[in-house]
Amino acid sequence: MSFIPVNEPLLSGNEKKYLQECIETGWISSEGSFVKEFEKQFAKKVDRKHGIAVSSGTGALDIAVASLGIGKDDEVIMPTFTIISCITQIIRSGAKPIFIDNDPFTWNMDVSQVEAKITKKTKAIMIVHIYGLPVDMQPILDLAKKYNLKIIEDAAEMHGQTYNGKACGSFGDISIFSFYPNKHITTGEGGMLVTNNEKLAEKCRSYRNLCFQAQKRFVHEELGWNYRMTNLQAAVGLAQLENLNKHVVRKREIGNLYNELLKNIPNIQLPLQNTDYAENIYWVYGIILKDELNITAEKIMKKLGAEKVGTRPFFYPMHMQPVFTKKGLFKNEKYPVAENMAQQGFYIPSGLGISNEQIKYVAKTLKSIIEKL
Ligand SMILES: *Cc1c(COP(=O)(O)O)cnc(C)c1O
Repeated sequence: MSFIPVNEPLLSGNEKKYLQECIETGWISSEGSFVKEFEKQFAKKVDRKHGIAVSSGTGALDIAVASLGIGKDDEVIMPTFTIISCITQIIRSGAKPIFIDNDPFTWNMDVSQVEAKITKKTKAIMIVHIYGLPVDMQPILDLAKKYNLKIIEDAAEMHGQTYNGKACGSFGDISIFSFYPNKHITTGEGGMLVTNNEKLAEKCRSYRNLCFQAQKRFVHEELGWNYRMTNLQAAVGLAQLENLNKHVVRKREIGNLYNELLKNIPNIQLPLQNTDYAENIYWVYGIILKDELNITAEKIMKKLGAEKVGTRPFFYPMHMQPVFTKKGLFKNEKYPVAENMAQQGFYIPSGLGISNEQIKYVAKTLKSIIEKL
């Protein structure tokens, strides 16, 4: 068995055909027609009126935060257990992130802790659906209504997932997706904002394109970014979108096969298969080592690597990031569930390109490592 990377994408549809069309017609920049078509089809898929394609999920988050006018002295409630992309523009704008700890079973933000953190300064709640199960949205939607807050929904790991039958990405005032190669559909690098609000959509398009103005081309009223998506990326994205349903079916197969193969290993916590409101789509297949094993994720990952199995650690909580703590931010803040997950959690290969044979090898290898401890 050769090395099994933690992720390999699957490019099995019209990707080549659409790319060839870009090259033959010369339309390779963001002006090409695949961009608009991808935006339209993707927005439709998640039941939103507007899609704004961008160069990454991170860029989409920057724009989402800016488009809601979040800035100095505003507070944004968000999970501490997430990727750095979620917090960057909040910090840069001078706003203040207010963290929430995780639920130890769904691995998402514990929504029961949110209301107590709402103040007069709270402007928005940022939802991040983690690893394959959505955040329990109803309590968040109720709070947003009660306190007149905006919702930013990070659905970067949730293409094709639903909450009580409604598409993830359709809950935010503004929602974002990523098309990095380990997501359920990819454009190599890329992202998308979706919204039903025409004005917000207009703002997002402007921020994506340096806030150029139609009438006065090089005169700027505001600062934006060049976060445009190319026609080449959108061509791949459109082809991937045609296969999204198949990709989700396969991801669930992969997850369920691991569930079956790993269920009898003692002292490890596996992902929940279901909640009342969703069935896991296993964006990644995470494992948490229980204290009884007396070993950290880092050491197990090393052992797996030596047996040719690729892994990744879980997210590292925002309140512990050196870039913030060395400035004295988030001092004395503690979020024990997230801290434990960061130390004891990791994920194993589960990309769309993996074979069942590789999955069986990974499971067998993990089992034998844990039995030998
Ligand atoms: C992948 C991811 C992002 C960032 O997307 P990029 O396209 O890599 O910039 C943001 N949020 C979450 C939750 C992600 O998983």
